[in-house]
Parts: sequence; structure tokens; C-alpha cells
Amino acid sequence: MRSHYCGNLNQSFIDQTVTLCGWVHRRRDHGGVIFLDLRDREGLVQVVIDPDTPEAFATADKSRSEYVLKITGRVRQRYAGTENSTMPSGQIEVLGKEIEILAQSETPPFPLNDDFSNVGEETRLKFRFLDMRRPEMLERMRFRSKVTTLIRNYLDRHGFLDVETPILTRATPEGARDYLVPSRTQPGSFFALPQSPQLFKQLLMVSGFDRYYQIAKCFRDEDLRADRQPEFTQIDIETSFMNDEQIMQITEDMAVELFDQLLGVKFDAFPRMTYADAMRRFGSDKPDLRNPLELVDVADLMDKVEFKVFAGPAKDPKGRIAALRVPGGAAMPRSQIDEYTKFVGIYGAKGLAYIKVNDVSNIHNGEGSGLQSPIVKFLPDDALKAIIERTGAGNGDLIFFGADKARVVNDALGALRVKVGNDQKLLTCEWAPLWVVDFPMFEEIGDGQWTSVHHPFTLPKCDVETLKTNPGEAISVAYDMVLNGTELGGGSLRIYNLDMQKAVFKALGISDEEANEKFEFLLDALKYGAPPHGGLAFGLDRLVMLMTGATSIRDVIAFPKTKTAECLMTHAPAPVEAKQLRELGIRLREEAKVAAPATTPTTTPVTGA
Ligand code: ASP
Repeated sequence: MRSHYCGNLNQSFIDQTVTLCGWVHRRRDHGGVIFLDLRDREGLVQVVIDPDTPEAFATADKSRSEYVLKITGRVRQRYAGTENSTMPSGQIEVLGKEIEILAQSETPPFPLNDDFSNVGEETRLKFRFLDMRRPEMLERMRFRSKVTTLIRNYLDRHGFLDVETPILTRATPEGARDYLVPSRTQPGSFFALPQSPQLFKQLLMVSGFDRYYQIAKCFRDEDLRADRQPEFTQIDIETSFMNDEQIMQITEDMAVELFDQLLGVKFDAFPRMTYADAMRRFGSDKPDLRNPLELVDVADLMDKVEFKVFAGPAKDPKGRIAALRVPGGAAMPRSQIDEYTKFVGIYGAKGLAYIKVNDVSNIHNGEGSGLQSPIVKFLPDDALKAIIERTGAGNGDLIFFGADKARVVNDALGALRVKVGNDQKLLTCEWAPLWVVDFPMFEEIGDGQWTSVHHPFTLPKCDVETLKTNPGEAISVAYDMVLNGTELGGGSLRIYNLDMQKAVFKALGISDEEANEKFEFLLDALKYGAPPHGGLAFGLDRLVMLMTGATSIRDVIAFPKTKTAECLMTHAPAPVEAKQLRELGIRLREEAKVAAPATTPTTTPVTGA
């Protein structure tokens, strides 16, 4: 229908006759001349229709915002003084000669042109097909497409095969709840949607595929936090006969190429940090290294202190006392400290002790001290001196303290570090990637009960016997790529030896029977020449979010779900007909019936004759 895209026109097209198809972005009447800004995927162009062409003029006059028009006309230079430098096609305009209305539009529920502002996300999601007409949204989706194209090209160049794995499958443990799909042909049985293609990609290595990738949809039924979606996309990668260093290198090179080509950002080699160091220095396994603040351990200075808040954690082997120095923080008003105290409460901290450092030459705990704080009087002078020395605090600084179980201190001070760093505008650079390595294999969830930190197929660094006797000490060959405090991707070398896989299942409290029942295929595969293999997966949505500067992953997903895992546009999930449930052998419990339709709709689905 069209000869050109609106947004592609410029002075090189002057005097050409073009046919454009697009939406009316804005219509203006100027003393008998009508101006239409016509919009398509590539941008806007101004079309002028004057009364010399009465038919076109009448059609333009009838056209309203978001009408779909086909316009034929001649490209001409705009009159001097009427150019628009903010528009790529702003030097020219199209003198419209013929206009056809291809589709009318009701007044949209919110303006899609420059008047768009303060439109609630619910409305945007309900009318997502309109929301995505906005150039901002279109640009993000276009950028996303560039990311996947570049990644496909990179991986293809490096010999990776794109293989699809099933969506209807068995549980693939990644630590979240499964989405279940009832089977009609085997009533009472359920498929699980994949939390990741993990086991299939490992089996492809056993099949000898050597290098695999897939841009894969994954499904996790979690209570949603701000940056999660129940279905999301991974760039899923697996390789054989490569060690962890090689896998990190090939995927780091991919990230470097991506940022260079799409954003012009040049990365140096990514620094490596062990999980233990990351937790110690930043209270997080995904530290934002743009932020210069660091946690400093001070528990050893407190074991003789009587102040209960510190004495308890100082003596508890699972406790931690850490200090966080905020340069210039002594000027912080009380209200700000109160706000931070509330903030750390979200992470389970019972309070937030602090010391304002007014004069480092005057450190003692009595009257007239250079340290100002409700807790100074409880701490002996030598402990105070050591704190100042260890944190490197100078005049005008403030030191926050976290004292509790290590987990609470890490969560609370780790989050506070991020918040203070942002609030006080302390970030030192724009991008800070790194690898976090040497994760523990397991995390204790209760008395002697362990869960995987990554997933149960991750290779430990130790041998089978050591794993059995001391699972809590086992370190895995796992690695996470972190950028600006966000985990971009993570992976590991995998277990390729049957005894080790069985030992890990056992450490996780999975009995032989259960392991056989759930993972027979994997255990079988490990008996038939499984190569050493490993891989990783990047979260595509988060990657695109970071690269586009979007504030939510919903803004880089075409049709996302809300925090309560609903689609406001299609109203999924939705109740189903009683007949469908009957076919599946399912009867709803009373409490689940509330949302279901009271009667079966009379429309019968068309069935094959
Ligand atoms: N399957 C893992 C995940 O989804 C990634 C990997 O280990 O490759 O987190």
C-alpha cells in the first residue's frame, strides 16, 4: 500500500510523490489549511492539505486522532521558519493530494501524542495495543529486537545451535512454584511449565550438540516483586567441554559486544569477586560496584562490650556486626536517619545504630566527645577508636551499624548501602559489571535441611565424600554476571557423574525413590557417556530494562502481567467452563468457585465432526 515510511522521509525526497500509511498523531486547522502529523513505525511526518484539493481537504477535515489514513502527496521543503529541528523529517512536509480513510478510531482512552502524561499503568496495560503505539514503547521493543538479533548472530558465529525445548513438561527445579497444566488424556496428571530449560539443555549436551542456545520463555509462580514476571525470557546457553573460565569468557565477550554495538559503551574485563567477599563487603551477592560504600566487620571489637544490642550478635556464631560509613553523613537530619531506620526494618533489622563523627581527634565516650550518638556511652574508648580507624571515618562522616543474625545484617545494611548511595548521589560511574563466583552449594533452611543455592545440577568443587560429610562447606562452580546491582545472568558447570548427582540429591533430602521417580531420564543420561558441560542463562527482560533505562521490566515486555500475575487486557487467568473442568477430571473447591461462572455458558465449542 505504501511507498515509504513517514519517519524515513527527509530532504532527499523533495519533489517525489510518495504514498504513506499511518495514524493521525495530531491534527491542526490553520486558517483554512489542515496539518496532519502522520505517524508510523518509523516516526512522524507533517502532511499539509489545502482547499485546492477539495476532496482530500474534506477527508482530512473528517479525520481525527488515531484514524488510519493512506495519503499520497508530494514531498516539499518547509517554508523558512517553519522547520522543526526536533523531528528527523522536520525540514520537509508532504503536500497531500489524495487521502483515504482506512480505519476510523474512537477517541483513545489516553492521548498518544505529546499530551501523554500521568496515565496510570493499569490503563496502559488494559489498552496495551494503544500504549505500544507511543514512540517510547515502540523504541524499547525495537531495541529489544536488536538485542536478540545481535545475540543470535553472536551465538551463531560461535557455533551455538538454536534448539527449542518443551513448554509442556515436568517440574524443572529452580526454586520457585510450578505453573501446572492439567492433562485431559491422563486425568489427574499435570504438566508443569518449565522454570527453565535446564534439564533439556543438559540432555542436549549428552546428545552431543556441544553448543546450544535458546531465547526461552520460563515460568515461575512466585509472589511477584517489582522486577519479576510470572513468564519471562531467558537467553539460555549450554556448552560441552568448556571450563567455567571459558564459559564466562565467551558470554562476557557477548555482553561486551552487545553494549559496545548498541550503546557505544566500552567495558574493560569484568572483575571477579567471590560470593564470600561480596557478602562481606556489600551484604549482597549482586553488589552495585558503582557505589563506593562498603560494609566493615566490627564484631570482634564488641565481644567484651556489655551493650546487649552488640554483645548478643558478637557472641553468636551466626551473628554479624557491620559498620557502614557514609562520607559527609554527619549533616544528615534526624528525620532522614529515622527514615533509614524504618527502611532497614523492612529487612528485619530491629533498629539502626549510628555515630556522627564530628571530631576524630577527640574520641572517647564521655561528655564533650567528638562522636555524637545515643550508643557512644555504651562503648569503651578503644572500641570507638578501632571503629573509626577501621571504617576510615573522618570529620563530618556518619557510621551506621547493623547487629543481628548475619542474614539480617547483610539484607538490611546491603539494602541501606544501595539506598544511601543513590540518595546521596555517590555513584562513581555509569556501568559496573562483574562476575560473582564461588557460591556455596547449599543454604540451610532448617535443622540440618539444605536447599540448593543455584539448582541441584550444579557441580561442586569438592569430591563426593567431602560433599556427603560437610555439605555446608561445599562451594559450587557457579558464576553470576552482575551489572549495576542487578543479576544479569547466572550459571554453572553441571554434574556429569551419576554418583555425584545422587549425593547432591541425598544432601537435599531427596530419596533415591523420589530421585528416580522425578529425574529418571537425567540419571539414565548420566549412565551413557555424559560429557563435562556447563552453561548459563541471562534474563533478557532485565538486560533490556537496564540497557534502555526503563524503570520496570513491564516496560520492555510487549504484553506483561501485573504484580498479581494478571493480564489486564485479556483478563487472563479466567474461569473456564464446567465442561472443560469435567473433561480434565477437576472439581473446584468451594473457595475457588467464587470467581468461576455460576452456570456453564450455552455456547458449545466447535468440535471436529
Ligand atoms: N537454569 C539456570 C537458571 O534459570 C541457569 C543455568 O544454570 O544455566 O537460573
